[in-house]
Amino acid sequence: MNILVINCGSSSVKSEIIDTITGERLLEMNIQRVNESPEIQIDGGELISCKKTGHKAALDKAFPLLIEKSRDLNISAVGHRVAHGGKDFDEPIEINDEIENIIDNLSSLAPLHNPINLLGIRKAKEYFKEIPHLAVFDTAFHSTLPRRAKTYAISNELASKYDIQRYGFHGTSHEYVAKEAAKFFHTDIQEQRIITCHLGNGCSIAAIEYGRSVETSMGMTPLEGLAMGTRSGDIDPGILTFLMKKEGWSPEELDQILNKKSGLLGISGSSNDMRDIIQRAGNGDDNARLAIQVFAHRIRKYIGAYAAVMGGVDMIVFTGGIGENSPMIRHRVCQRLDFLGAIINDDKNHDLKLSKTQPNAEFSWNHSKVKLLACKTDEQLSIARQSAKLVEKTKVNSIPPIPVAISARHIHLCKETFEELFGKGATLTEKKSLSQPGQFAANETVKVIGPKNSFETVRILGPLRSKNQLEISRTDEFFLGIDAPIRESGKTGNSPGCILEGPKGKVQIRDGVICAWRHIHMTPQDAEIFGVKDRDVVDVKINSKERSLTFGNVLIRVSPKYKLEMHIDTDEGNAAEISRGATGALVDTDGEARLTKKKLR
Ligand code: AMP
Repeated sequence: MNILVINCGSSSVKSEIIDTITGERLLEMNIQRVNESPEIQIDGGELISCKKTGHKAALDKAFPLLIEKSRDLNISAVGHRVAHGGKDFDEPIEINDEIENIIDNLSSLAPLHNPINLLGIRKAKEYFKEIPHLAVFDTAFHSTLPRRAKTYAISNELASKYDIQRYGFHGTSHEYVAKEAAKFFHTDIQEQRIITCHLGNGCSIAAIEYGRSVETSMGMTPLEGLAMGTRSGDIDPGILTFLMKKEGWSPEELDQILNKKSGLLGISGSSNDMRDIIQRAGNGDDNARLAIQVFAHRIRKYIGAYAAVMGGVDMIVFTGGIGENSPMIRHRVCQRLDFLGAIINDDKNHDLKLSKTQPNAEFSWNHSKVKLLACKTDEQLSIARQSAKLVEKTKVNSIPPIPVAISARHIHLCKETFEELFGKGATLTEKKSLSQPGQFAANETVKVIGPKNSFETVRILGPLRSKNQLEISRTDEFFLGIDAPIRESGKTGNSPGCILEGPKGKVQIRDGVICAWRHIHMTPQDAEIFGVKDRDVVDVKINSKERSLTFGNVLIRVSPKYKLEMHIDTDEGNAAEISRGATGALVDTDGEARLTKKKLR
């Protein structure tokens, strides 16, 4: 499935169309310098400038270009990265007006991110009208944090009045690299305690215990925790009130200082870019050295704390621009972690280079109990895949269940045979109408006589047909002593016959005894929804209360006269312990709900 992923940030917009199966990037469009003089670039091509500044103008210029370029790409949905999902969202969700309002209301918790994310969503909806728009939240993966980790030690009343708690961020990245790590070491994430260090411009660290995030360093906002490019991370809250008093700063000024002028930039006094800082440190800049020391020290401190939180650790994963590319920072963080069982292999650490073809690389010794891994994060791909999963789930949910009916043994007769059994001029009389339009169970029954045994009363189904056809189950066959082939209705050629007895006579029918091929009746409209055509053969899982069962080799029959219904015989019904109201669903051979591929754009 092709998903358009949009990450609408405060000064740039990244968008990509991604094939979620292969991970291939089909089209990429970035907008830089949105607030100064926006520059749009598609697939690394020439920069297209936009005269007006701001997100609205930039997106109004960029989206038509994107539509033009992606005409043949068949986009199924748009996945939007949304920073804060608050308490409301623990998984991706399709965006409607109500969801937009909730994202808007959460802006007070993420004033720098949510309003811009929402603006991106609303603009994208104007241009991509026909496809679903989904929100994937940075906070969602951390919704599993236990109360003891989520709760700040402040008054209960204040906390609940303003929803103050630890939410955590970079969830998409932490989840992605933890899964990649488990895959890399051929193990199940649910058996591992993993510490993931996302070290980029923003930095955070998470403790992932058996697949669930149980601790993370960012809190109610993305300001808490590690020292970052320009953000302070942890700081004694007393310093804030102290500075407010001494400098007379407003909340906005304080916000600016902590978010934009602290971290690596604040300590080094020169740069927020780790590459610059490393270079300056190498040239003897003491402030740059201190910035590196503070940065690495705090990560080590958190690793120790998170190992304690989980009662141990099995893997430590490094990602983000710094985690993926800086052997020096990984070395400083991982040296002397032997006490935890993590033994760094410095040669491997030094030499490793991540790339598209080698997105993960181990840098611990073979005998290291704790595995150390550098892993290229791919939040866009993760958003695309989460979106695709939601689209599939929604489609599956919108596919109607197939009612299942059990056909007891019955017979269809032609006029000639009927009159021989019931007398010249006799007519069938209706006892009960059947679910298929125009069909009915008649009051009249016949005796069926086989070589071994007979059935006294076999119901005739009306109206009369051009050919005789007795439909029985496998058990009935054994009882009567007849070898009946499995056939679709109407295909009676070369089938065995039997003796029929009615009130006015006895008839030997030459053929017509069959075991009905289990089948589904549906209209052409249904066939479109299920993505099948007449005479297709499918697998159907019966969701009976008692015992679910998957039937292979089910025939599809399509006609405008039909009503959606699956017909099985009594043996099959018994096997699945079918009760009233049982339904079926088309499934793939692995038992997973089958998607109507034709419906998925
Ligand atoms: P991100 O936000 O994930 O793009 O990460 C950006 C950060 O990664 C910046 O601080 C960059 O200086 C840093 N970074 C990128 N490449 C390297 C490198 N080779 N060595 C050290 N830091 C790097």
